[in-house]
Amino acid sequence: MTIRLALIGFGKIAHDQHLPVVQASPAFTLAATVSKHGQGIDGTPHFDDLADLIASGIAVDAVSICTPPQVRRAVALHAIAQGWHVFLEKPPASTLAEVELLRTAAEEQAVTLFASWHSRYAPAVEPARTWLAEREIRAVKVAWREDVRVWHPGQQWIWEPGGFGVFDPGINALSIVTHILPRPLVVEQAALDIPENLAAPIAARVSLRDTAGVPVAINLNFRQEGPQSWDVAVETDAGTLTLSKGGDELALPDGDATLPAVGDHAEYTALYARFADLVQVGASDVDITPLRLVADAFLSGRHDRVEAFIE
Ligand code: NAP
Repeated sequence: MTIRLALIGFGKIAHDQHLPVVQASPAFTLAATVSKHGQGIDGTPHFDDLADLIASGIAVDAVSICTPPQVRRAVALHAIAQGWHVFLEKPPASTLAEVELLRTAAEEQAVTLFASWHSRYAPAVEPARTWLAEREIRAVKVAWREDVRVWHPGQQWIWEPGGFGVFDPGINALSIVTHILPRPLVVEQAALDIPENLAAPIAARVSLRDTAGVPVAINLNFRQEGPQSWDVAVETDAGTLTLSKGGDELALPDGDATLPAVGDHAEYTALYARFADLVQVGASDVDITPLRLVADAFLSGRHDRVEAFIE
């Protein structure tokens, strides 16, 4: 039987990725969409909020929560209480304690909780991890620099407390780095630039180190015009590995790596396959490592006020 799934928070990522992937998946049937201001799609019931979906009595087995992080805990707890499996967009919540609360609630209800990190499923990430496993790593540099006006137009929630600012995309870099590097990381220093009119950082520099002393330097910027970069460079004893385009491309010291051919929506197709497997075996997958490092950067970093940003 297919998993009857409702999409909650029907915004950009729900339309761009979740909807086409769920519609194409043999493992899922789209049961409903939920969003206050948005429109649904023809032929699928649409509700203003989760309470209305529950009251409708429509049969649902699982939900994907694609809202901003600030409201995710309340929505997820409500869904878990119905006995529904839950797929969380990244970041899994606004705080670490919220994620622990969700993990406990899911365990108590015996439902699957999947804290997804889509960038880990980019096609070059696993090959990079495999290549690095046999090398001595010397240093890592991450440049995640994008134009917020282009990629997040009108997303006011990003600038609110709990919206993460430039760490909203930056946490994707951390999800990749924590997956491809062999040892745990600790934040040593961080500097967060917060526009004087907003509540979240527009740029950040974070220095981390792994348990063998390897330095990892992360540079995040939302004011990048011109060429955009979502790059990870790993210096090793055998030369430098470069992951670019958010994990879509891989260059090795002796040339570009040959990657398996993947179709459109590769990351989300793999994420939904993983979710279906977890549901089938009755397991959860909740890795808080990238969120913990972001929290540590906020906790230990300098917070400097910088010039106002007007979209
Ligand atoms: P978005 O376009 O702003 O969509 C957010 C959706 O959540 C809207 O449908 C909104 O609809 C609903 N929502 C519920 N409560 C809300 C609130 N308090 N404030 C604002 N919206 C609220 O955002 P998005 O880009 O899809 O991102 C959603 C999540 O997916 C984020 O955590 C983001 O990090 C993650 N993500 C985004 C991308 C991307 O490329 N954009 C990629 C991967 C992951 P209603 O107001 O109608 O309810």
